[in-house]
Amino acid sequence: MLMVKKFGGTSVADKEKIFNVANRCIEDYKKGNKIVVVLSAMGKHTDELISLANEISINVPKREMDMLFTVGEQITVSLMAMAFDKLGIPAVSLNAFQVRMLTNANYGDAEIIKIETERIQAELSKNKIVIVTGFQGIDENNNYTTLGRGGSDTTAVALASYLNADSCEIYTDVDGVYTADPRIVNDAIKLENISYDEMLELANLGAGVLHNKCVKLAKANNIKLVVRSSMSNLERNSCI
Ligand code: ASP
Ligand code: MG
Repeated sequence: MLMVKKFGGTSVADKEKIFNVANRCIEDYKKGNKIVVVLSAMGKHTDELISLANEISINVPKREMDMLFTVGEQITVSLMAMAFDKLGIPAVSLNAFQVRMLTNANYGDAEIIKIETERIQAELSKNKIVIVTGFQGIDENNNYTTLGRGGSDTTAVALASYLNADSCEIYTDVDGVYTADPRIVNDAIKLENISYDEMLELANLGAGVLHNKCVKLAKANNIKLVVRSSMSNLERNSCI
C-alpha cells in the first residue's frame, strides 16, 4: 500500500513528538507499505515567522512572505529525516522545489496546478520513506508560493491524488472530527463518518480540523480521508 500521512504542527512540536511520528510511520513501513509523510512547521513556528516579518513592516511583499514561510516546513522535514536516520530507517526530505509542486502565482493563497511524481516515486522505489514539505509550492518562474494557512492538509490530499495513494491520513491533536472543538467544548461528539459536503460546511464554519481547500480537493478526486490522533493509537476516528 502507498500511504500518505500528514502531521500538523502540534504533532511535530518538539524532539519527542518528532520521534513519536517517526515511530508511527516505521510501524507501517515495516509492514511493507510505501510511506509519504507530509509535515507542517513545528508548533506555532508559522505565526512566529509572521511576527518576525511584521517587525520589518506590517505590509510585507507577499512573494517575500512566502519565501519566509517555506523555511518553517523545511526545518520539520529535515529534522524528521534525521530522526529516521537515527532510528536506522532510510528516508529523504524533499521541498516543493525538489518535488516540483507547481501552483499558480497567487502568493499566500496559491492553487496547486500539478505535482510531478517522478522524484518521489524514485525515492520510494529505493525503499525510502519520503518526507515532503506541506503548505508550499512553486510557480512557473520557480518562486515559492504557499497554499494559505492550514494548507498542509491540501498538500497531503493533492499528493495522495497524484500518487494514486491507497490511503490519506490526516494526523492531528484530536482523534477525529467533532461537532465542536473538543479542546474547548466538553460534550462535543465525534463524528465517525462524515460526507465531504458536511465536512466542507464545518470547515467553512471555521472548524480548525481540516483546511476547506483540502476537503474540496478530496471530494473532486474522491480521496477518502481519515482524521486520526498522532498521540493515541485509537482505531476509532473519523472517515470522510
Ligand atoms: N504551517 C502552515 C500554517 O501554520 C501550514 C499548516 O500548518 O498546514 O498555516
Ligand atoms: Mg491544520
